[in-house]
Amino acid sequence: MKKKYISIILIIALSLSVLTMAVSCAKAEDVTAYEIWLDFNDDGVDCAQKLHFVNTSQSVLDNLKLNVYANAFDSKKPLPCTPQEQAEAYPNGVSFGKFELEQLHGDLADYQFDFDKNLITVDLAQPLQPGESVDLQFVYSLVLPNTLLRYGFNERGVTLTGFYPQLCALVDGEWYYDDFSAIGDPYFADVANYEVNFNLPNGYEYVSSGKSKSSEEDGEILITAKAENIRDFALVISPELNKKTENYKGVELNYLGKNPYTLEYAKKALDAYSAMFGKYAYDTLSIADMPFAAGGMEYGSLCVINEDIKDVAYEEVVAHEIAHQWWYSAVGSNNLINAWQDEGLTNYSTYLYFVEYCNLDYADLMITDAYTQYRRFCDIQNSVGEPAVGKLGGRLTEFPSNYYYTNLTYNKSLMVWKHAQDTLGKDNLIKALKIYAERYKFAIASEDDLWNTLDETIPDASKLLKDFIKAI
Ligand SMILES: [Zn+2]
Repeated sequence: MKKKYISIILIIALSLSVLTMAVSCAKAEDVTAYEIWLDFNDDGVDCAQKLHFVNTSQSVLDNLKLNVYANAFDSKKPLPCTPQEQAEAYPNGVSFGKFELEQLHGDLADYQFDFDKNLITVDLAQPLQPGESVDLQFVYSLVLPNTLLRYGFNERGVTLTGFYPQLCALVDGEWYYDDFSAIGDPYFADVANYEVNFNLPNGYEYVSSGKSKSSEEDGEILITAKAENIRDFALVISPELNKKTENYKGVELNYLGKNPYTLEYAKKALDAYSAMFGKYAYDTLSIADMPFAAGGMEYGSLCVINEDIKDVAYEEVVAHEIAHQWWYSAVGSNNLINAWQDEGLTNYSTYLYFVEYCNLDYADLMITDAYTQYRRFCDIQNSVGEPAVGKLGGRLTEFPSNYYYTNLTYNKSLMVWKHAQDTLGKDNLIKALKIYAERYKFAIASEDDLWNTLDETIPDASKLLKDFIKAI
């Protein structure tokens, strides 16, 4: 354990804990912000976190609720993947993590950590009126699992995502949360600003959400990364991957990996999606290639790509994960019940990417593949007397399998948007989606918000698409 940096963390945490953090009236541009200090050491990561929460809802809040996704990796819980994924997710054998909440301070009456639900509930000392803010300070430690899932370490480095107590999303003035799901992406949060400080282990390179700068103190490299309006903060460090950084039309691109084409694909994706759906919402975009149990994963201004994927399929994953910066990161939606909403638009955007860059064979392949797979899935469902006709969304925790989830969320939703293009006109559809992207930038769009925006631009568009969803 590196004593120096951990002592900085403890001094910060303790000095915060003795301050009286009274509830205060928020300033005009006051926003919810996380400040996190990480100390990588031989045993894991020691963390201190300050959370400044601004009640932007119209409701009076008696408590705050925070998810701790890292807790899903605990040895006393079911594995955070399906049985079919287990061998790939744990090539070195099953491994567990540990999230230990050591201190929680601030203007609170009480708090409970519901281990089963990975949920911290903080009862506030006094009700928080709309527009008011409250400050909390956390001290916690992480033991990382050895896994190729989203969070943990492997032979290439460390992926830190979902590692910190993160506010649940506020929907209509209520905290929205659900159990962790091994199927799909069970992450749902409002945007916030972040400042994350960490000591970079010797010989490591990194990419993170946001813009970062490094300094050196007594031979130790300290990094500060800052990001605004992101839905979650992610960090990847590696002792063997090289980092490339370049500026592209005002966006700082960072890449950690070995593929010579990744940044080219990233630039193409930024150009295509910016032209169709409006300007990229952030001033940085970082990509890390890592061993990964899935194809890729999106985080706030950062994408992780499975390094084993090759050729056009690799380009597809890069284009897919970058499309999520529009449909997930900037425009939020409820992944816990409507995963199709961002995955469908992301898949359709990826299809448009290939059309834009004249790889029509691959674009067509995406569509025929979606139809073939979905029809096969429907045949299977019919044969067991459980037809899937008419379905699309649903609670992640209630999907019977990854196969079921994938066919609705990825394949059927791509079919829906391709049908929309064919019947409503590509230009009309893109125009409507651009309005949707601009209107719900940094907000959470409900399913109806999406339908209503379509109807404003193209009358009765939603009825046509809902009829299509019901019929297939
Ligand atoms: Zn996706």
